[in-house]
Amino acid sequence: MSFSDLGLLADLQRAVAAQGYTRPTPIQAQGIPVVLEGRDVLAGAQTGTGKTAAFTLPMLQLLSQRKRPEGRNAKAPRALVLTPTRELAAQVGESVTTYGAHLPLKSAVIFGGVNINPQKDMLRRGVDILVATPGRLLDHAGQRTVDLSAVEILVLDEADRMLDMGFIHDIRKVLALLPKQRQNLLFSATYSNEIKRLADGLLRNPALIEVARRNTAAETVTQHVYRVKKEQKRDLLIHLIDEGQWFQVLVFTRTKHGANHLAEHLNRAGIEAAAIHGNKSQSARTKALAGFKSGELRVLVATDIAARGLDIDRLPHVVNFELPNVPEDYVHRIGRTGRAGEAGDAISLVCADEQKMLADIQRVLKKEIPTVPVPMFEPKVLAPAPKPAQSPRKPAQHAPRDARNGKPRHGKPQNNRNGAAPSGARSDHRRRRPAGKPKAASGNAR
Ligand code: AMP
Repeated sequence: MSFSDLGLLADLQRAVAAQGYTRPTPIQAQGIPVVLEGRDVLAGAQTGTGKTAAFTLPMLQLLSQRKRPEGRNAKAPRALVLTPTRELAAQVGESVTTYGAHLPLKSAVIFGGVNINPQKDMLRRGVDILVATPGRLLDHAGQRTVDLSAVEILVLDEADRMLDMGFIHDIRKVLALLPKQRQNLLFSATYSNEIKRLADGLLRNPALIEVARRNTAAETVTQHVYRVKKEQKRDLLIHLIDEGQWFQVLVFTRTKHGANHLAEHLNRAGIEAAAIHGNKSQSARTKALAGFKSGELRVLVATDIAARGLDIDRLPHVVNFELPNVPEDYVHRIGRTGRAGEAGDAISLVCADEQKMLADIQRVLKKEIPTVPVPMFEPKVLAPAPKPAQSPRKPAQHAPRDARNGKPRHGKPQNNRNGAAPSGARSDHRRRRPAGKPKAASGNAR
């Protein structure tokens, strides 16, 4: 199956190819043809499945093939995508821009917490695709700065999260402003009764698409807690990575600042790392991700929001350097490791002031995460800060995505020096540092 088999315009195929995608994901293979037919869709799909392209590509195609309305609402949006958060709105907006690069369609992203006036200007100039969070959209509607009477396609993205966040009334108010005749696409990771009610009232004879669920991770992933003092976390992490010879480790921090600091520290300890978070430009994030996938970077340090929507999952190791404030984020984080039928490792470094967060997470998981003894470790002597000019390093030789290629990741867990439970190292994760590859700090975190 290729993108050309899905009936996409050459201009869209070109944009997709430029992203390096070779094959449609299951949600795209199933979703794109039915959206192109003009049908309503109810899709069960989580972030990471490629759902954004599954609705964005056919939406762009349909709009580019139809005539704009003339007269009063000639500048009014023809497609509306509602998302629960600003971050998701921004991400969807980026996707619309990326995939629509060769089409003469205009898009805008509007969300709260920022000045409303530039948004008004954009809307006045006219847009084809509007990506919005519900609250700010209603502000515009109240001020009559948006006209929703020309919407032909409505997408509710992450509808379950919108309901969780209490947006149901806002969504219903928005629905009341839309024309009756339109195409509706509803994406949700879960099917609660509330989602069913919303779908029943919204969708007409929808195509039902369900792609493999990924939130069974909580059952298949090996989870451990190390109880450790806050100031010892960095040294323990370095020890675990070094001793376990971990490669491709995704480490979560709570803050952008913390992510930067940790990546710097790891680099100084000779562990190639980069930080990704909301303050990094898209190109910096893309570069870091590419380095991580190629094996050039051993560690990616991420905040929850930056990691959301990034195609980084099925990794051997995920480390919660700090526990998330929201227990559901823990489930998302550990869902990045493991794969169907095979366990990955999720390790949490928990200090005294994170006890309550741990208790909340365990309540959501409905199980206790085993605490294992902290291995003995010596703080590592750090290399001096990197010099500004460094020769580019060669990519590592290993095949980082072996988990995706179906190679089993067997091997006995290692006992640490205390004879304690595994730290997560498994024999085939081991990789020798390629000959000539310096172990000194590098400047490639930035
Ligand atoms: P989403 O589920 O829409 O948040 O997408 C998750 C990630 O998958 C994003 O980083 C996309 O860039 C990426 N992606 C989407 N479609 C494909 C594809 N067909 N092949 C490879 N990566 C894709």
